[in-house]
Amino acid sequence: MATNQALLIIDYTNDFVADKGALTCGEPGQVLAPAIVSLANDVHQSGGWVLLPTDVHTPHDPYHPESKLFPPHNVRGSWGRELYGPVKTWYADHAANDNVWQFDKTRYSSFAGTDLDLRLRERHVDTLHLVGVCTDICVLHTAVDAYNLGYHLIIHENAVASFDPAGHAWALSHFKTALGAEVI
Ligand code: ZN
Repeated sequence: MATNQALLIIDYTNDFVADKGALTCGEPGQVLAPAIVSLANDVHQSGGWVLLPTDVHTPHDPYHPESKLFPPHNVRGSWGRELYGPVKTWYADHAANDNVWQFDKTRYSSFAGTDLDLRLRERHVDTLHLVGVCTDICVLHTAVDAYNLGYHLIIHENAVASFDPAGHAWALSHFKTALGAEVI
């Protein structure tokens, strides 16, 4: 990997991964941690960027579309919004580095309403590695936006998961057949 590459660790928080998370993937999400940490180390050590787009909500927002779909989750300042397990530790150990940062997102896509595209273009990043959860929701919507913006996509199959096995399998196929991604 090189400096034109960024790893996006998407929504790897307690609410989406831990046993007691509000919208958890459960074990399929928890087992990703070593692969995500390994990739983070690889990208970081090769001079690439490690970014952590992280869903954030207020407890009761009647205007947010997810309020009709899901219970409260990833509420700012809550345990549920903390990064999960080994990824939390990795981020704590690397957050002081300019090549590593976490940022808020309020929609499924990491690009929706954020400055991610601007920041990537400033840094001449053209290749995105996607990991995290859920394969068929936030990873998928991020991948679709990245495709439309012209980024090359690499999805790491051993580092994405969903609570919905059928949705997970469908999304992995869609990345390849419709978005031209490498699924490795
Ligand atoms: Zn959300």
